[in-house]
Amino acid sequence: MTTSTRRRRPQVIAEFRQRLAAMRWAMARTVATTDAELATLEAHQPSEFTEGAMTGVIGDQLSRLDGRERHELDEIDAAQRRLETGVFGVCESCHGAIPLNRLRAAPTARRCASCQAQVEAAR
Ligand SMILES: [Zn+2]
Repeated sequence: MTTSTRRRRPQVIAEFRQRLAAMRWAMARTVATTDAELATLEAHQPSEFTEGAMTGVIGDQLSRLDGRERHELDEIDAAQRRLETGVFGVCESCHGAIPLNRLRAAPTARRCASCQAQVEAAR
């Protein structure tokens, strides 16, 4: 078994599309304040929460996020873009494949563990 292939298999792409959509849905839920907003969220499946499908009420909810949550949403957006452009799971520093178990623990990870540790050590 090899994990060195750079291009992710379609089922892996589908898996992370789901995971990222669910993360997005969960974030919208944290800022839902009224019954109407919650009802709108409940009426949509997390799988509908792909990039660009966040207009209207849910977009308004997500636009209320700030600070750390805003940053987290931006990271989810960026990961969704990487999925669509075929570079998801590729380390931004060394361009190696980020191991699947790391991505499952942190779907928005931009770097492999050793490059991330270097970035954090340099801060
Ligand atoms: Zn790396």
